[in-house]
Amino acid sequence: QGSLVCVGTGMTLGSHISPISRNCIEQADVVFVLVADGITEQWIESMNADVRSLQPYYCEGQSRMLSYQKMLAAMITEVKAGKNVVGAFYGHPGVFAWVPHKAIEMAREEGYQAFMEPGISAEDCLYADLGIDPGTYGCQHYEASQLIFYQTLLNPAAYLIIWQPGVAGDRSLAKFSTGPEYKALLLEVLLQSYPAEHEVLLYEAANLAIQQVRLERLPLSALVNARIDLKTTLVIPPTRPMAPNHAMLEKLKQLEQQD
Ligand code: SAM
Repeated sequence: QGSLVCVGTGMTLGSHISPISRNCIEQADVVFVLVADGITEQWIESMNADVRSLQPYYCEGQSRMLSYQKMLAAMITEVKAGKNVVGAFYGHPGVFAWVPHKAIEMAREEGYQAFMEPGISAEDCLYADLGIDPGTYGCQHYEASQLIFYQTLLNPAAYLIIWQPGVAGDRSLAKFSTGPEYKALLLEVLLQSYPAEHEVLLYEAANLAIQQVRLERLPLSALVNARIDLKTTLVIPPTRPMAPNHAMLEKLKQLEQQD
């Protein structure tokens, strides 16, 4: 009949995948895989006889959108050929990831059954490794380039998690990294809401159990020349306390008096 499931393989090789995602991979007719490294790819290959890497579709100098379209086409072609297709993506397949969402949408539009199985994302690892609870002060998530391209109302009383700072400001979608002059634009945006000396964190979860988590603290002003690559996430802790909403607290007081 043809179907599509996009599953998450988690961040750390071998230990983060859910039993249901593993089962989907094992039962699939064909598995398309997009993960962080070759070892993880080999691990997925051990679960199914027909595993095809989506990695070769990436090409520096070519828009990622073109690579994504080719990945979509490869997956949808097999669905239309009547195969039960699995797309296995590192982390959570629906977190800061365009292809899995789009592939499911396209397969459904064509009348095929398609759904997503969640995985452990970089965000999940970050909360565990940094001891942050997104519920304590609230938590904002943005892609670095979005903060440069669009006017964004940031809340400095909450956490700010910035994804893909390594390619901040890349409008061509064709670069694997952007230089200090691009990071300087991100810094300029952030300095509108945070002091230059505010301590921020560069975070990299372990992809292999033997790897160390990277957790580097630095002042915001040092961002421009910091080591930031494709797997780095930037974490900006709150810089001011949450401000009480006195008008609402007064209304609450009146309600409570009526109880
Ligand atoms: N779907 C992935 C997930 O669930 O984590 C995220 C994919 S998004 C295209 C890539 C971004 O995720 C990176 O630029 C970085 O911000 C973050 N990321 C990827 N690997 C990471 C790692 N090992 N540690 C921390 N952040 C990571």
